[in-house]
Amino acid sequence: MLTLNDPGLLRQAALVGTEWIAADGHGIAVRNPATGALIGHVPDLPPAAATTAIDAAAQAQKAWAARTARDRGQVLRRWYDLVMAHQDDLAAILTAEQGKPLAEARGEIAYGASFIDWFAEEARRAYGDIVPGHAPDKRILVLKQPIGVVAAITPWNFPNAMITRKAGPAFAAGCAMVLKPASQTPFSAIALAVLAERAGLPAGLFSVLTGSARSLGAVLTASPVVRKLTFTGSTEVGAQLYAQCAPTIKKLGLELGGNAPFIVFDDADLDAAVEGAIIAKFRNNGQTCVCANRIYVQSGIHDAFAAQLAARLATLKTGNGIDAGVTFGPLIDGAAVAKVAEHIADATAKGATVILGGKPHALGGTFWEPTILTGVTARMAIAREETFGPVAPLFRFDTEAEVIAAANDTEFGLASYLFTRDLARSFRVAEALEYGMVGVNTGLVSTAEAPFGGVKSSGLGREGSRHGMDDYLELKYLCLGGI
Ligand code: ADP
Repeated sequence: MLTLNDPGLLRQAALVGTEWIAADGHGIAVRNPATGALIGHVPDLPPAAATTAIDAAAQAQKAWAARTARDRGQVLRRWYDLVMAHQDDLAAILTAEQGKPLAEARGEIAYGASFIDWFAEEARRAYGDIVPGHAPDKRILVLKQPIGVVAAITPWNFPNAMITRKAGPAFAAGCAMVLKPASQTPFSAIALAVLAERAGLPAGLFSVLTGSARSLGAVLTASPVVRKLTFTGSTEVGAQLYAQCAPTIKKLGLELGGNAPFIVFDDADLDAAVEGAIIAKFRNNGQTCVCANRIYVQSGIHDAFAAQLAARLATLKTGNGIDAGVTFGPLIDGAAVAKVAEHIADATAKGATVILGGKPHALGGTFWEPTILTGVTARMAIAREETFGPVAPLFRFDTEAEVIAAANDTEFGLASYLFTRDLARSFRVAEALEYGMVGVNTGLVSTAEAPFGGVKSSGLGREGSRHGMDDYLELKYLCLGGI
């Protein structure tokens, strides 16, 4: 059983409009992926609950939007303070339901909270424009107004942060939100709602629905009251939701799959490139959409890089995320393990070599050994599909032109990384990469201050930064005549 300083944060209930609906031991069982232990239940809500939530959101949103931006920012600030005050409890809940090591979970709570903090400030910066008029007696004003009711569907890999970077700008802008978190990790979402309520977020403005994503999602996407859908998850489901939103012409924010290239040139700082690869590839055990999925290493540094990466990984420990000293937790479920196994089998059948790991971890369950493959080529499934697991596939390359072409040869365009000490090459390659984000000599690009998002099949819109706020605002142009 999970012991928390504030047991009220682990609430086995969903928030539907203004009412908490308790699971009472029924509904969806949530289990710890490291141990299989039951954490608790959340309700399996019927589709009608989504309608109730949408109605409550529409009602609460009007009054919320009418409050001053400063006032909304202060509520968000209190929410941020409460999240940080309960960082340890929230991290414990997150590790229990998601599996990532406790230190990483604490990091996610702080990272997630930073979006609330950032948008608490941005609330007051939703400036419009005054534009020189097109006639002597006319004046042009451009206002930014909240979109209205927003639906959000979020994944299990960042059960806290994928919510705050949507809810932060939505509430700052004056929107309401109906959230459907992933069924594997609902308790992190519910705890955020408990704290939002304590922070003074008005009743009805934020709902957290638990149950079938398909049936609740169908109601959220079909509703004409919902003016925007924001989704983080797979490209496949994103495309489905995009189609479901077409009849009501909703705005869309889609953070979808990636297939990040991680390019190491001969002139790179080897230590920095290895550390960058560990962060970019193995954070959250490889289960992030910005994870390095293809590691391209130039011939001159290839063998040294492979050897050092293997040596470093061999010193890191796999285990239950709650235990001290653990760097790699379990994978989220059996399907994730199957995909990792499949990618390794396909690559080795086509000529790749396993130089580290390559098999299930002795701990059993969904634990997998950190793995390095060399001799990986474009013909292998791992080159095209997101692995979402602890497998680092190394591709050898010779020229800059060759690696740029290979890096861009994918339907995805989320994150990319390159390591070089040549400033001109940094710019040249960064500008040539068809990606929404490029990390130059760093394996970590996500922060509240920067616009996170992708191009091509990786999605639409940006989260974080001032641009993240614009995604929750509509422009309204006023033409004043007879002046
Ligand atoms: P992942 O591989 O990260 O689980 P998914 O795209 O399958 O990615 O899931 C991301 C989120 O989308 C989860 O919250 C999931 O419940 C939800 N989801 C999955 N299928 C649907 C659907 N048909 N309609 C609405 N939401 C869905």
